[in-house]
Amino acid sequence: MPVITQATAALVDIEVETVRTDAVQSFLKQETLLVEISTDEGLTGVGYSYTIGTGGRAVLAMLRDHLLPLLPGQDSRNVEHIWTTLFRSTRATTVGAITSLALAAVDTALWDLRGLRSQSPLWQLAGGYRPEVPLYDTEGGWLHLSTEELVEGALASQQRGFRGVKIKVGKEHIADDRSRLLAVREAIGQEMHLMVDANQSMTSAEAIRRARAFEDANLFWFEEPLPADDVSGHARLAESTSIPVAVGESMYSIAQFRDYLHRGAAGIVQVDVARIGGITPWLKVAHLAEAYNVAVCPHFLMELHVSLTAAVPNGEYVEYIPQLRGVTNTELEIRDGRAIAPNTPGLGIDWNRDRLDDRTVA
Ligand code: MG
Repeated sequence: MPVITQATAALVDIEVETVRTDAVQSFLKQETLLVEISTDEGLTGVGYSYTIGTGGRAVLAMLRDHLLPLLPGQDSRNVEHIWTTLFRSTRATTVGAITSLALAAVDTALWDLRGLRSQSPLWQLAGGYRPEVPLYDTEGGWLHLSTEELVEGALASQQRGFRGVKIKVGKEHIADDRSRLLAVREAIGQEMHLMVDANQSMTSAEAIRRARAFEDANLFWFEEPLPADDVSGHARLAESTSIPVAVGESMYSIAQFRDYLHRGAAGIVQVDVARIGGITPWLKVAHLAEAYNVAVCPHFLMELHVSLTAAVPNGEYVEYIPQLRGVTNTELEIRDGRAIAPNTPGLGIDWNRDRLDDRTVA
């Protein structure tokens, strides 16, 4: 029996490779919650989730004080049962970010175990749609960069074979946002995809005004224009513009996605495997989006999302933000702007123990 004998958690601070600034924050370090689950077969699954700099210790406490003690003795194959048991045990803090992030670290470790046991890579274990997925580049589009730097970055991304580039918006003056986008569009031509991201910084009225000013930049999507809990605002915006509205990175439950999709407020779904609570709920959101004929282009966490996007038929794009190169032995394989889903059993992340130990803070 693959019974769980031990479960441990650690907090690892991973430095960012590039300064990342958007309309509301700067991403200075990734707090990484690492969970290891061992079974009596002699297997150990490693899972993880993250924050972009705050709250990591709260997630660690949730894991150590409440969730991990429930694991020993459980059959590790019963992933749905374990997920639901842990979720229900934390009623007072659900639906919420801390619980979802903690659940994700456990759930991804269970999927790693599943893959190790069956000797299957995640992309096939989770569905097996296609072995590689297109990438778009976010690393050259941060808000603090000048127009010249944006243009230079977009052209470099194009040279490297990326199919799209994302630019942050939310400058004080609408004219600044517009001129930055038009300069990039002019440089890259009409065929390459250009996305924008406002990181929830706008009101509905302002987003409608900005979307109108952006229309002739031929945008592929307008990401997180409003606070994530403003579903009706997103619905009004989606009604008013031809630009697809992309949401999902700040949502922590399947039901939130249902509300957005049901109201026509999401043209692209960006479900994040850490924030939704792991691979188990991620796949449910992806399949729900498929039922609404909506594409999935997950947020961040490229190293896991390549396999998940490759697993489902409506997975369209993965966001290129390398983050684990400092703590892994192998890099994600990229060919002509496409990421190749790892073919090794489990999550396919080859952690470097020494480098993780060096960065472990709790
Ligand atoms: Mg975003």
